[in-house]
Amino acid sequence: MSSAGLGHVTAQTEHAQPGPGQPGAAAASSAMLSCADGPLRLMAIHAHPDDESSKGAATMARYVREGVDVLVCTLTGGERGDILNKAMDRPEVRANLAGIRRAEMAAARDILGVRQRFLGFVDSGLPEGDPPPPLPEGCFALQPLEVAVRPLVAAVREFRPHVMLTYDENGGYPHPDHVMTHRVSVEAFEAAADPDRYPDCGEPWQPLKLYYFVTFHRARFTALHNKMIELGLESVYAERLAAWADEDDEPSGPEHEITTYVPCADYFEVRDQALIAHATQVDPDGPWFACPAEIQREAWPTEDYHLARSLVDTDIPEGRRGEDDLFAGIREKVRR
Ligand SMILES: [Zn+2]
Repeated sequence: MSSAGLGHVTAQTEHAQPGPGQPGAAAASSAMLSCADGPLRLMAIHAHPDDESSKGAATMARYVREGVDVLVCTLTGGERGDILNKAMDRPEVRANLAGIRRAEMAAARDILGVRQRFLGFVDSGLPEGDPPPPLPEGCFALQPLEVAVRPLVAAVREFRPHVMLTYDENGGYPHPDHVMTHRVSVEAFEAAADPDRYPDCGEPWQPLKLYYFVTFHRARFTALHNKMIELGLESVYAERLAAWADEDDEPSGPEHEITTYVPCADYFEVRDQALIAHATQVDPDGPWFACPAEIQREAWPTEDYHLARSLVDTDIPEGRRGEDDLFAGIREKVRR
């Protein structure tokens, strides 16, 4: 989709500079003008409460503390999630899972320092079985795209993010809500700027960059694994790395090229606290925390992204492996 990662990312000019009279021309030009208003704004789009704490959380914590306005949009309430922490698997928790997950989300939000909004769809659940059962009626993943995109378009036009973060086309993992979250995010990135679409959802706004999370990737797990072995610790990643090696002939999906490495190691503990706040979803003694933060800081101190769309040029400095800032190419355009 983009030439990101080749050293120079060229703006997709059909969006940045529509010709006179072309659809979107007015929207894009007014969006470019109002883009000059600070502060910098980052929108992270997620399927369920807890996803924001496992993907890009340290990045958000860092940007918030640098004065960036960060909004997490959570498409569903996580109503059909399992209870993944044995200590929380109690009848009274099961009976009020939706309410408890809201409270967990509020706690994680405060730890990260972000703003957060539920966009009101109902969790589709992860269908299990062979063949998998049909998705439950009315759930997020069964919504027609134009219905599913609408609240996100309204949120984009209201919050006016410069940068949007979402999942890749496989959803990061094949949960139907994650795949749907990818689809609505890509669609909203385009539709929010088009005055002819969703005219009752606010003034058009064109975000400038769209990134995919690249979180659970091989290079990172290899680095963490090697560091743990080097220190004489038992690595929790051996099995996963072996599975990847087995899969080499038939990869389950493309691993996106990392274009952007955001240093955020100082916020790994904040991320872990936010994760722990999702007590029904995260076991504090489980694999999430099996690699100590200080080892992660040393072995892999960044959170990583794939630049999927860009309307600005960003230069990757000579000798660097990628961008180190989600706002590269944007900072200089925004008056703060
Ligand atoms: Zn999820």
